[in-house]
Amino acid sequence: GTQLDRALDLITEIPDFPEPGVLFRDLSPLFGDATAFASVIEALGEAIGDGVDRLAAVEARGFVLAAALGYARRLGVALVRKPGKLPNVAGRVDYELEYGKASLELPMGSVNAGERVAIVDDVLATGGTVAATAELIRSAGAEVTGVAVVLELAELGGRSRLDGLPVHALRTV
Ligand code: IMP
Repeated sequence: GTQLDRALDLITEIPDFPEPGVLFRDLSPLFGDATAFASVIEALGEAIGDGVDRLAAVEARGFVLAAALGYARRLGVALVRKPGKLPNVAGRVDYELEYGKASLELPMGSVNAGERVAIVDDVLATGGTVAATAELIRSAGAEVTGVAVVLELAELGGRSRLDGLPVHALRTV
């Protein structure tokens, strides 16, 4: 296979994490391998395409991917966070998890109205995280151009929750 295939093959499956019945995908070996990490960043760059003004990412692994991609493409990153971390919040979105609720916050001044923003993350599962991030970006008056993820877990239906937003996954399982 290609170098990208070899990189994605480093992702391992961990049964019953973080709770019984869940098959967790562990990207740690991929992040830890210099060649694999570089080829994933290259591929994410192709996935977001041109005409992007800024990246947005959610802690924690999304930050690592977006930081590398932002440096490579000379794009700033809006660092979307779990609640209680930010002193100045431009917007907050509360959303449903499979069990319970979660919230995300957009730092003040991290996205300007009219910008074209691409969302980057490691895994697209139910799509709740990306949907909430898209809502934060749109609330700031910016446009979401698309979503680039390393791995899409298709059976969780994340794509269908995103209202036709273009989703580029380096691998879909
Ligand atoms: P979603 O909101 O259900 O789409 O979940 C996506 C978020 O949860 C991403 O930010 C991922 O980092 C994390 N996530 C969900 N499932 C996995 C997994 O199997 N491995 C690693 N991260 C995951």
